[in-house]
Amino acid sequence: MRISIVGTGYVGLVSGVCLASVGHDVICIDKREDIVNKINSSVSPIYEPKLEEMLNVVIKEKKLSASADISWAMKNSEITIIAVGTPYKDGAIDLSYIKECAREIGVELAAKNEYHVICVKSTVVPGTTDTVVRAVIEEASNKKAGSFGLAMNPEFLREGCAVDDFILPDRIVIGAYDERSFEAMASLYEIFDAPIIKTNLRTAEMIKYTSNAFLANLISFANDISNICESIGGIDAMDVFSGLILDKRIAVSVEGKTIYPGLTQYLKPGCGFGGSCFPKDVKALMSHSINHFYYPKTLDAILSINELQPKKMIEKLEGLIGEIRGKKIAVLGVAFKPDTDDIREASAIKIIKILLEKGAKVFACDPKALANTAKEIENEMLFLSEDYRDALSDAEGALLVTSWQSFMDIKPSEFIQLMKTPAVVDGRRVYDRKVMLEAGLQYTGIGIKYQ
Ligand code: NAD
Repeated sequence: MRISIVGTGYVGLVSGVCLASVGHDVICIDKREDIVNKINSSVSPIYEPKLEEMLNVVIKEKKLSASADISWAMKNSEITIIAVGTPYKDGAIDLSYIKECAREIGVELAAKNEYHVICVKSTVVPGTTDTVVRAVIEEASNKKAGSFGLAMNPEFLREGCAVDDFILPDRIVIGAYDERSFEAMASLYEIFDAPIIKTNLRTAEMIKYTSNAFLANLISFANDISNICESIGGIDAMDVFSGLILDKRIAVSVEGKTIYPGLTQYLKPGCGFGGSCFPKDVKALMSHSINHFYYPKTLDAILSINELQPKKMIEKLEGLIGEIRGKKIAVLGVAFKPDTDDIREASAIKIIKILLEKGAKVFACDPKALANTAKEIENEMLFLSEDYRDALSDAEGALLVTSWQSFMDIKPSEFIQLMKTPAVVDGRRVYDRKVMLEAGLQYTGIGIKYQ
């Protein structure tokens, strides 16, 4: 099929490259000429494992091209997917990019005689596609939905493994305005081996929010329990979760082997969730729900627990080294999770800002996210390095914030050799506490408090 995709960020570009790699003809559209030029030169504008290699192949095979010209792209495609950003702004979801894009699509639709399907892939609050998007397209095109197709196909890919998630999806949700729109979208995914869930437009939108709220809820639940463990003292929350997940309703035994569902990786103490999705989506669902006269208490709790966690890292550091002012502090990891360069709402950004306010000299280290960090925080007391040794060298405290493998592999002896005061706060619980203490480090982490 011939597809155009508006917005070539993490979702648009990964979707485009993967759809092209399974045989579709894809045109990626972005307003930003620099992004368009990069894509056409086989350079990925974002870091995502496997993406650039695949982009190279689909560009060579002429299965994908990028353009800033939506008119040309729509003339040469039969489905247009909307994958522009939907940030959270001033207490609600910001639909301005969606509206602008829907209007541009509507204008082009007016000039097109063939049937064309418009599909929203961006995460939008329930009701958006069948009210806002539909109304804007109908007005700009002077056509009624039905004469053009309308669908909502939420995306579940995770940054860091986005390509694999797209190629091997666990489910494909297609919310459709009518049967014809559904059939077109189902053909797009024919080659994928995953169940297709057919719904109306707003149910598809709600499935996406429910998925993100559910996962964010697990993280905040784990952090709430961890904070209770710390308040009582003498309990390591890691031991508590190890005990919990052996429950037969969670872990299953297959041929004598215990299999832990992927969800258990969220049941761990940590310094909070970040990223471009969980924080903004939980906030947007909450405000949307309040606008519909229901106060979502669980969502409120998820967010307020998450706010606490970065601050706990600072308290723990102060507990180990006392006054922070004037001291060199290493922050290991800025990306909101490993294998991405995305720092949107990252816990590390909040932590770095507090450290700077408290007068620390901050040495942040990340294998991929430093360019984005430099754009986000400009401060003469912030120093950036890809090499953790630069960050740890002569530091009087280190905070592990993102569990990149290279940081997880740092040996206790290396912390001791490099640091002036080898004091480590583990925000992701990646190090073995006993080993760290026996090596002579001052060590603590989220979810532990021993007197
Ligand atoms: P992004 O900010 O990385 O990319 C959006 C792109 O759209 C930008 O390159 C921007 O230049 C472009 N754009 C905006 N308006 C445009 C227009 N009118 N015409 C052409 N280009 C335009 O966004 P993202 O992270 O890819 O997220 C996109 C959507 O997908 C959001 O709704 C997000 O919530 C959702 N989502 C994201 C993820 C994720 O992991 N990032 C996962 C699932 C769903």
